[in-house]
Amino acid sequence: MEGGYVNEAIISYSNPKLQIPLMASAVYAPTTTSISAAGTPTSATAATNASKNASASASLSSPPGPSSSAGSAPGSSAHAGGGPLQGFVAKLRSFRFDDTKNIRKRFHFDYISKDRFLGGQLKTKNGQKYVFNGPPSGFYVSKACLIISAFVAVVALLFTIAITYFVTRQGLNPKEVTPNCITADHPDVNATPIQTAGWVSLNSPPPAPLATPTPTPTGTTLATSTRGEPLPSSAKPETKMLVPQVGDIPVEVEESSTNKSNQSTKPTSRPLKLYEGWRPLHYSLLIEPNAEKSVSNGSLTIEIERDVSEVTSWEPIVLDVHNVSISNVRVIRATPDKAINATEEQELDFDSDYGDDNTTFVINLEKALAEESQLKLLLSLDFVSQVTDTLQGVYKTSYTNPDTKKEEWMISTQFSPIDARRAFPCFDRPDMKANFSISIVRSTMYKMSLSNMPKSHSSSYRRGYVRDDFVTTPKMPTYLVAFIVSNMVDSQYAALDREISPRVEIWTRPTFVGMTHYAYKMVRKFLPYYEDYFGVKNKLPKIDLVSVPDFGFGAMENWGLITFRDSALLVPEDLELASSSEHMQYVAQIIAHELAHQWFGNLVTPKWWDDLWLKEGFACYMSYKALEHAHPEFQIMDTLTTLEFKESMEHDADNTTHAISFDVQTTSDVRRIFDPISYSKGTILLSMLNSIVGDEAFRSATRDLLKRFAYDNMDRDDLWAILTHHGHEQGTLPMDLSVKQIMDSWITQPGYPVVNVERRGSDLVLRQERYLLPSRNPEDHSRWFIPITFETDALRKGDNIPSHWMRSQDDEELVVSNVFGQGSNPENVIYLNLNRQGYYRVNYDMTSWLALKKNFSSLPRITRAQLLDDALHLSQAEYLTYDIPLTFLMELFDAVDDELLWSAAKPGLNYLINNLKREPAFETFRAFMKFIVRPAFEHYGLNEPDNESHLQLKHRALVAYFACKFNYDRCTQSAQIKFREWMRNPKKNPIKPNLKSVIYCTSLAEGSSPEWYFAYRQYKTTTSASEKEEILTSLGCTTKPWLLSKYLNMTINPTSGILKQDGALAFRAVASNAIGHEIAFDFLQGNIKEIADYYGDGFSTLSEMIKSLTIYMNKDYHKHQLLELAATCRKLGLRAVESAIDLAIEQVNNNIYWRSHSYHSLKNFLEGIVSEFQINIF
Ligand SMILES: [Zn+2]
Repeated sequence: MEGGYVNEAIISYSNPKLQIPLMASAVYAPTTTSISAAGTPTSATAATNASKNASASASLSSPPGPSSSAGSAPGSSAHAGGGPLQGFVAKLRSFRFDDTKNIRKRFHFDYISKDRFLGGQLKTKNGQKYVFNGPPSGFYVSKACLIISAFVAVVALLFTIAITYFVTRQGLNPKEVTPNCITADHPDVNATPIQTAGWVSLNSPPPAPLATPTPTPTGTTLATSTRGEPLPSSAKPETKMLVPQVGDIPVEVEESSTNKSNQSTKPTSRPLKLYEGWRPLHYSLLIEPNAEKSVSNGSLTIEIERDVSEVTSWEPIVLDVHNVSISNVRVIRATPDKAINATEEQELDFDSDYGDDNTTFVINLEKALAEESQLKLLLSLDFVSQVTDTLQGVYKTSYTNPDTKKEEWMISTQFSPIDARRAFPCFDRPDMKANFSISIVRSTMYKMSLSNMPKSHSSSYRRGYVRDDFVTTPKMPTYLVAFIVSNMVDSQYAALDREISPRVEIWTRPTFVGMTHYAYKMVRKFLPYYEDYFGVKNKLPKIDLVSVPDFGFGAMENWGLITFRDSALLVPEDLELASSSEHMQYVAQIIAHELAHQWFGNLVTPKWWDDLWLKEGFACYMSYKALEHAHPEFQIMDTLTTLEFKESMEHDADNTTHAISFDVQTTSDVRRIFDPISYSKGTILLSMLNSIVGDEAFRSATRDLLKRFAYDNMDRDDLWAILTHHGHEQGTLPMDLSVKQIMDSWITQPGYPVVNVERRGSDLVLRQERYLLPSRNPEDHSRWFIPITFETDALRKGDNIPSHWMRSQDDEELVVSNVFGQGSNPENVIYLNLNRQGYYRVNYDMTSWLALKKNFSSLPRITRAQLLDDALHLSQAEYLTYDIPLTFLMELFDAVDDELLWSAAKPGLNYLINNLKREPAFETFRAFMKFIVRPAFEHYGLNEPDNESHLQLKHRALVAYFACKFNYDRCTQSAQIKFREWMRNPKKNPIKPNLKSVIYCTSLAEGSSPEWYFAYRQYKTTTSASEKEEILTSLGCTTKPWLLSKYLNMTINPTSGILKQDGALAFRAVASNAIGHEIAFDFLQGNIKEIADYYGDGFSTLSEMIKSLTIYMNKDYHKHQLLELAATCRKLGLRAVESAIDLAIEQVNNNIYWRSHSYHSLKNFLEGIVSEFQINIF
């Protein structure tokens, strides 16, 4: 007797389709009536339906008979209207696939960790303290040891000060010395050799005089005469090693937050100045990253040439740095012929110093050289930089070795977008491409190192240390440089497929080698596809893929060395741990994305970050194409029209959005653009371009671009010109149009349009306006150049190439004549934006909406999904009243198999759930949705047969997600039964991979501490990264406040086992729970400083947390809460977070507006429907 649903008995789920047309028509009739009341002539439709529906309506109105309980579990009525649904709200924004998509697109940047230097100690994840200069596994430090260490450090410091003083007095002009850092701009001091690559700090006493180091000639490795030889056995690096004082590394100076007015919550961030006049040609980098001491020592030689293409004036050489100290600077003239002849080198005089805020290092050469426009130099220097623990720059992370049970450290890098400057001084911008010869010094405790290119040579460096030299890279930007030092193992694929080029290998911890097969299979499918599509062979001889234990990104496309978080690469094949279809699709897509970057991004790179969307959009769009090729059964191009549109339109809907290309001037700007606008909108715009010029022209243009700009940079105008050429050549693009004309309106304006459709006699009249939340705004005059495609009953086009254009400069309307013919029937359909190839929504006149509703089942699959999604979102912004989307939602009742329609419903439904969840109308809404969802759940249930298709598996999970979310008790009870079965035998999980997300969350929401602790134990013991993510999300589903609070506290406790990469995920799981939301807000407000310190006060984790708080905020006092939080952040100097709060406030404003304008009308419509069909609300 599940909730007393009306006439459940007549719905024979063994063949639901026999019954469903009756129901669908019955639903349609009263809705039509309500529309008629608004004055639209619909009598013909109503009459038609009335007779058809007579029998159905009669049976629908009959009270539930005893047999109606056939589909319900015993005792279900007691449960149906109660609280168990609560926990599911936590899944609204955290359905697993969406999560991974979000992680892929949101990044952890710009942390400035405050806990790295602990006075010679290091805290590991389990809270133990280790000495810096011990072996990686470390020793517990006793108090005595601490005292001795401190004493040694103090003595060394005093000695260093004395030496520095001595050097300063002897060799430097005092005015040239920069406080707290070692500059070396005097020839005498420059020549003072300091052993750099071993841990002899810049503060250390200088070693016995050695020969003056010879600057490294171009194309060779660094001066091995002084650095490549092992230290004499008497030299024990361990005893000499000292941790540099924090003050030695210049920290960038930020503007004091107290200067700001109280009203201003805009972050002030550091400008990204572009310095012209010089270009790097070749970097020779020797670096010794040290996880134990959290520093890298290194030396660097950059071959530089004067570049007068931008400026002809005499400019200083400006290197980007971030917390890097520099010493031993030398500048040598390098004429092309003599560069490798050290005997003919000519040292040049110069001044050098750190620039403003210590974010640059500036070298001024003598003005006399200004006459030489062809000047080439070798700039050599030594440096000390930080090894961070905030997943950026060169960073360290650790994992437990399953054999020794000890913590093992590893070094990884993340230089994109602007963190190469944290690792070594460089020209850190994408258009400054150069060759890189990289050498890494590692302790023999680490068995391997990797970099972009294959290893050319390994040699003993000094006792206990090995130097690995790598082949010189092709020309590439700094953000693609990468290296790894670790004890990871390879999966032996390169050895097995010895003949195949490029060599592909996957590296991971020994435990996970068995989880790499799927990834390897995908790489081998995608590479030939790309080589064929692009018409360009993969350029590098090898590609290593590495799973990094803690990784802020989903993955990073470093050329030849792609890094991943575990869950983005590893797919367990063991049945117990098997991944869901969603997860496998995610892994395949992220691999396809990163491989596409090897061409687009790496081989050809956008000039500046304002065109980031081009490389990201291309990689995303190509990943869809590659996946369609490799897995046609995924129907992945359909997914693009729901998933990418959802991601993009959600972020592009109000005034806080930005144009996809905007003037990137600051560090905040460059980090901010890594958002769904760049990725998803970029994907959609490229897909739209593909449809405008056709497949052939698009592919030819891509090939041309890659050939013409290989190893170089391009901007969007280059792409537009090539696309225009091929579009004209293929005859797909009208000769009077250029791609630039079309695309400028999409690139330079924020937001997206709604095309309003009106029938006027036999003509079609189209108008455009901006889609804007919280409500349409006639004052906004944004206009776009819109490709128009449409079909009618009489006209089926069969392709996506536009037949008409709404030109942005056109006046109010576009009239397409004679579309409907004479005496057209209002029931004839018209629908626009075929296959959703254009980035816009379509709003029809009422006649057209009704015709579409009436003929819904015969419309193309994507059009049906599009109509439902558009209708829900048009109502959200008051373009439509809610009766329209509600009637389209009812189609789900019939379309139990239409997985695309169900996917399309998800974003709009989630918005309604979030905004109704804490309102009285939720009861009616839930009843209505249970009514709609029930047939599909009865059809699919929670039992997953073997050998189902990928789409069916995904669809079953989605249906279950809605059924349990709307508290359909057959779903919630089945979920709990399965979960308890697992609890009885934790070693054997009976839950099928695709249903884990729903079943875990439901069971934790319905359960209490035993379920929660069981899940947490499983989190700690499972070896599957995707399983860990499932459980992390589920832990936020509990409805027990104390558990939610405990969970939040665990996110800032390193011993909890929750990685920093997952902090935002865990927080979101709680914040998106209707009960957890306020607990999450309290936690954030009370611990903001601690959270900022733990995760770094950068842009990502905290901002993600704040964003997820807004889900349930729809009242004025919520806005005040956020303003108070902003004030706290301002006091703490967390300016990037203030910016996230600004965005959050705008979101809350939208919610408040919706509540005051749309809530009541939606409530009335829902009550009307529930009453009409006598749907029991319990
Ligand atoms: Zn990318």
